[in-house]
Amino acid sequence: PKQSRPVMSDSGNLSSAHVALLPASGMGHLAPFLRLAVSLLTHNVQVTFITTHPTVSLSESHTLSRFFSAYPQIATKQLHLLAFDNPSAISEDPFYIQYEAIRQSSYLLSPLLSSCSPHLSALITDMSLASTVIPVTEALGLPNYILFTSSAKMLTLFLSFHTTIGSRARSNSDEVIGVFKIPGLQPLPKSWIPPPLLSDTVSLLKTHIIENGKEMTRATGILINTFEELEQESLAALNKGKIVKGLPPVIPIGPFAPCDFERSQPLSWLDDQPEGSVVYVSFGSRTAMSGDQIRELGKGLLRSGYRFVWVVKEKKIDRDDDKELGELLGHGFLEKARGIGLVVKQWVNQGEILGHRAVGGFVSHCGWNSVTEAIWYGVRVLAWPQHGDQKMNASVVDRNGLGIWMENWGWGGGDLVIKENQIAECVRKMMSSESLKVQAAQIGETSRTAVEVSGSSNRSMFELIETWKTSQ
Ligand code: UDP
Ligand code: UDP
Repeated sequence: PKQSRPVMSDSGNLSSAHVALLPASGMGHLAPFLRLAVSLLTHNVQVTFITTHPTVSLSESHTLSRFFSAYPQIATKQLHLLAFDNPSAISEDPFYIQYEAIRQSSYLLSPLLSSCSPHLSALITDMSLASTVIPVTEALGLPNYILFTSSAKMLTLFLSFHTTIGSRARSNSDEVIGVFKIPGLQPLPKSWIPPPLLSDTVSLLKTHIIENGKEMTRATGILINTFEELEQESLAALNKGKIVKGLPPVIPIGPFAPCDFERSQPLSWLDDQPEGSVVYVSFGSRTAMSGDQIRELGKGLLRSGYRFVWVVKEKKIDRDDDKELGELLGHGFLEKARGIGLVVKQWVNQGEILGHRAVGGFVSHCGWNSVTEAIWYGVRVLAWPQHGDQKMNASVVDRNGLGIWMENWGWGGGDLVIKENQIAECVRKMMSSESLKVQAAQIGETSRTAVEVSGSSNRSMFELIETWKTSQ
């Protein structure tokens, strides 16, 4: 049923906050925007959700339709994307091409935002769209918040990259010892930096990080799906002006909880497994693994002796993933795995799996949503970063004692294939570690406290909403 408006705020006053949300493409960007929208609703904020069509993946379109049917009180607007010539010349990655399409169509947002009724208090948009969306909201006099969908650790790199490597102002000594210096923080191993950023070749990732990183100081605020207790050091450096001067407040409001509308068909197989006995293996929504690595991983899981649920992805986009599992996994694998492991190719409800009592560990690529979900459910992690921001995120996992990270496994997709023995050994190490189990459970509890009534993230959210109401 439609919610009647105006709604009452927490303090009993009439609420006038109305916020529009504009995500970028890919489930890793969409999911946190949807969860934020739900959280805003529960804080009595009116929400308009802006979508772009068509979506790159089927999972995005399915999730959006479930979301809109679960929340009919959320208004929706469509941003019609302009076509541009020869998209494959700018990137081979369809998700990046879509960021670019949204960026190039950003000026069309102006009439769309002006037509929202009642008047908007703010727009919240994705960090990949910052430099093209901020000018639009500035011209409208509309506060603009960036939702950074990765870790605060990654935000320190995102904001400073254009002043360091991005501007070519690197020192020879750093080059030799293989470190990367972010102002105000300990130097990082260079191997943690997404490789396209270090390469001389032009890539959209690099261009976007430079362009958006430069313009972030013009945002009204930067919202982030993390919490004080998890990333204290990075957050303090950001908010004390150590990374970039003149940065707007970085406001940790996480972790975002997985929502009911995301639930799909539960995996009933899990119900029959003993508590904490199952390893969940997934590399997120957009990471394809080579056939060789997939087969080695399969053998490694069998050899580990643990039960497993494994989501296999051989293609970056779900609609392209058409190979039969049997063919992909190699002869006889599925027979050997019968009763021990469940291998799927389709979209699963990760929140439901991580929250299941049978699941005791997570082999993860460390996409930031996956990390925050592991935290939320208190599940220990074997970090196996593949691309992009994932090593920066893995370092947060490692540092907080949430899991183990074999740094020498490198990035995914290269020539290096991690062998079954190594995989089996690390899975056993993670699953048998009582200290990791205890620590993960503790971080989980702390994370839930952060979003409870007097928790750090909940307080930040409350203050943010108050600002929107008073600026009306
Ligand atoms: N996800 C899911 N089912 C799947 C694959 C992914 O629910 O089969 C969700 C996962 O829970 C997370 C998001 O998709 O919320 C993926 O985001 P993440 O940042 O972990 O990684 P990315 O896909 O962006 O690499
Ligand atoms: N990649 C990925 N998931 C990510 C980030 C990157 O699968 O979260 C892939 C990306 O699709 C590309 C490769 O890693 O195939 C290198 O990324 P890059 O940013 O260079 O992509 P580009 O912009 O050059 O297409």
